Amino acid sequence: MVFLPSTASAASAVDVSLKRSHVDYSRYLSAEARSRLPNPIKSIWKAAQVKPGTINMGNGDPHHTLYPISEVNFVVPSIDEHDPVQSWRSGTGEQNIIASYKDEPCALSLRTAFAYGAGAGLKDVRDALADLNDRIHSPPNHTVSLSLGNADALTKCFRLLGDPGDSFLCEEFTFSAMTNAALPLGIEWVPIRMDNNGLVPSDLERILSNWDEGKQGKRPHVLYTIPCSQNPTGSTLSLERRQQIYQIAHDWDIIILEDDPYFFLQYDLGVSQSTIQQYGHTRAMAEVLPRSFLSMDYDGRVMRLDSFSKIVAPGMRLGWVTSNSYFADKLDMLTDSSSQHPHGMGQAFVAELLGSNGWGVDGFMKWILSLCNEYQRRRDLFMDVFRQKVATSGFATAEVPQSGMFVWIKINLEHHARFSASQTPTVPGGPTTNTADLMDELFRKLLNNGLVMMPASTFAIADRTGMMGSHINDRVNFFRATFVGTDETIRNGLTTFGRTLEEFFL
Ligand code: PLP
Repeated sequence: MVFLPSTASAASAVDVSLKRSHVDYSRYLSAEARSRLPNPIKSIWKAAQVKPGTINMGNGDPHHTLYPISEVNFVVPSIDEHDPVQSWRSGTGEQNIIASYKDEPCALSLRTAFAYGAGAGLKDVRDALADLNDRIHSPPNHTVSLSLGNADALTKCFRLLGDPGDSFLCEEFTFSAMTNAALPLGIEWVPIRMDNNGLVPSDLERILSNWDEGKQGKRPHVLYTIPCSQNPTGSTLSLERRQQIYQIAHDWDIIILEDDPYFFLQYDLGVSQSTIQQYGHTRAMAEVLPRSFLSMDYDGRVMRLDSFSKIVAPGMRLGWVTSNSYFADKLDMLTDSSSQHPHGMGQAFVAELLGSNGWGVDGFMKWILSLCNEYQRRRDLFMDVFRQKVATSGFATAEVPQSGMFVWIKINLEHHARFSASQTPTVPGGPTTNTADLMDELFRKLLNNGLVMMPASTFAIADRTGMMGSHINDRVNFFRATFVGTDETIRNGLTTFGRTLEEFFL
């Protein structure tokens, strides 16, 4: 593998060579990914499919005439409603049936959807998602592979890129369900500082330029980031930060894992009605959605992970990975020999929904816009109740999130009678405050009073490099709360929260 020496001049030498030559993506791969052989059965089948009319006596596939199903009807809201989410919620709107058949014409026959398929997913679905990608991100030279959602995609990406002893970069508070999944692979996490606006680019640059390979091992070659509604902090990276981060990734030869399940849930969008009327919802949304890392990716260093979990339903277990075709092939090989492929029912549904008998891509974007309006209403309700029931005491504060599902609530522990801070840590490199203990106490009090909010400690990435400067336990004075629940949940939950804070502080 080629890794860069730590000076910026050396970085720009590689920069030039990257631009000059065809990029050799194999150098980013883990030993596991490099040694993986293709699934030989799928390889033969792919080769055989080139010749039409080939008789298949090779595979152990049940015959489609024996599938005990002939038709699936999906009852969905009519996308012709003015505000489809509101009509659907109130039960007043029209409904449509979109059908998949085994033997009748439809977007994706159940014969195909329910048979064994390629790890990358079925072509019809991949094409529809590539079309959606093109309209939103216009990525140059990228390939779409289906996944079983972002958790599946991420864990596969970790295996693709990480060897035992590798260090990967991530936000200092992150979706620990995923970072934990990398630990048994021997991958260590290096946290990057965040502020109210998410990952701080200058800290990323600082960590990389101060990295000492002699002492710390191989410089990180992967950044895992959640750019929209960062889980847990709810922050969304500005365009300026995205451009800076992409440039740093380019300079230091880093692959960006762009985990973006909340991308489509953006608020205060100011979508142009005249663009909708003239060009449709997709173009109007593309104008106002944030610019993804994928959309900036001219040298194939972004692996973008999208999911249907937050915009259709998590039980769909369906998502898509967009990457350079080399990584896509390697991912597909892993899927071919593990989960095989995403399930057929989900693929049939998506093919029909996005196809000409369903909503189509533009109808899907209309649904998403309508969904954004509903989640924005819930966010606004949450923030209103928060101001009335919580913020008045001064014990907690929160920023208004621009996207996604989370509010990152700061507990102003310095007002607590038992809060203590010292100049020096009791153990070298340790915390200088009792923040973690007080937060643990508050968490338990909330639980006793019947409320669960996720404490920041759940998401905190401990710094093993000594490069962080201060201990993360001094910054865990936050809770992650979600505003996606019902109005009643929001009102009751925040009332309990406000009351418990008063008990705790007074
Ligand atoms: N990544 C992040 C940041 C998430 O918040 C979640 C789910 O909450 C996932 C990945 C997993 O998503 P999926 O349901 O697509 O596997």
